[in-house]
Amino acid sequence: MEETLKILVVGTDEVDRMTIRYALTKAGVQMQLSEVDDSNDLFSTLKNSSYDCVFLDYRLLDQDVLTLIQQLHSSEIKVPLVVLTNQEDEQLAIQLIEAGATDYLSKSRISPETLAQVLRNAIRIYRAQMQAALAIQQIRESHEQLISKNQELERQQQQIQKQNLKLLEASQVKSHFLATMTHEFRTPMNAIIGFSQILLRPKCGKLTHGQADMVERILNNGKHLLMLLNEVLDFSKLEAGQLDLKGEIFDVSKVINLVVDEIRSLADAKNLSLLMQTNLQNTLVFNDPVRVKQILINLISNAIKFTDSGEILVEVKELPANRVAIIVRDTGIGIAPKDFKHIFEAFRQVDQSITRKYPGTGLGLAIIDSLVRIMGGKIFLESKLGLGSMFRIELPRQVKLTTVAADTPASQLDSNEVFRSAKNPHHSCSQFSKAQIGYPKFKL
Ligand code: ADP
Repeated sequence: MEETLKILVVGTDEVDRMTIRYALTKAGVQMQLSEVDDSNDLFSTLKNSSYDCVFLDYRLLDQDVLTLIQQLHSSEIKVPLVVLTNQEDEQLAIQLIEAGATDYLSKSRISPETLAQVLRNAIRIYRAQMQAALAIQQIRESHEQLISKNQELERQQQQIQKQNLKLLEASQVKSHFLATMTHEFRTPMNAIIGFSQILLRPKCGKLTHGQADMVERILNNGKHLLMLLNEVLDFSKLEAGQLDLKGEIFDVSKVINLVVDEIRSLADAKNLSLLMQTNLQNTLVFNDPVRVKQILINLISNAIKFTDSGEILVEVKELPANRVAIIVRDTGIGIAPKDFKHIFEAFRQVDQSITRKYPGTGLGLAIIDSLVRIMGGKIFLESKLGLGSMFRIELPRQVKLTTVAADTPASQLDSNEVFRSAKNPHHSCSQFSKAQIGYPKFKL
């Protein structure tokens, strides 16, 4: 052993202590050896100084050694303890180790070799025990830390749940307020629209050119306001899960034709061609015609609004698995991939500035997204800035009125990929970005 060991020998018998001293010296143990001859001295000595090993005689005049070892073991004093017994006694050895001794050695076996060996072993065992105790202590501490972190997390989770509940309540109050207010606004709006229409009828008396112009403006603005109110009302109903589909069998091509005819004047006003291509063997679907019409009006009027020249193409196609695709393409300003998911969020527009060129509430696509999800369908968007956009709605031919579909609103998806369009001459430009929009669980 190269290090100098501090060794304490405790024993009443002077000869025994001398034997140990002699054997250790003979074994070449580098040491600083101290001796005490009673247990009182032992405690004070161990408190004042630390030792690498204590040799303790089993026969102390003033003290029962088993009790002494137990006291030492349960005190703050930690030291390897080798007990020297008078005879080989298995039973006693077990008791000593159980009481807290590190090892024992019969005095009859003391020799320089055995004592040095026992000393080395005792120190090794003691160090291993200390390391194990330290590891256990660290594990206990980290376990306690984990418990307290868990408790903290649980507290935070409960707070978040409470806040969520409050937010939900606030959102419900807001939706209810929106629904009530828009509903209330609609009644006078309908009166304004109705009376302006009556005023414009020739049988109500002839209006001057200026008067007719003013009444027409009242009528158009009233209609526009009513459309905005309807959007807000629909949106608040959808948010509250209160919008039900009224399913019936109808001819989807006819509905598309009707919408295209109704909206054509808007395209004409901008010199845009508005074309329609139907490719359906069976034109009948089971869905809510009012809501399908609403989706179409929104998509086509957006296409017209965001296109300054070129054409709008509305297509309807048969898809496998008894589904139908409605596609609205335009050659307008296009949408950057980074905006794909945002435009499906309520009140979100690519241009959010007050001075924006294109008017609107930013609710149209959010409503379409929710409606398509309720219908168990999907929306795909392909677009390239400056070249145009394509919104493709895929719907089951027969919607399930109690559908529980997938659970991701379009606004939460950001998958987009590059799409090469070779077929469409207006999109002959190289690349279009494409996002596939899913649909969430929604109970009717
Ligand atoms: P709004 O048209 O009332 O602004 P929407 O929810 O219908 O609201 O559309 C959200 C935004 O998506 C629009 O403001 C526009 O920025 C973008 N957008 C929608 N359709 C098109 C389109 N066909 N071409 C270019 N941008 C579009």
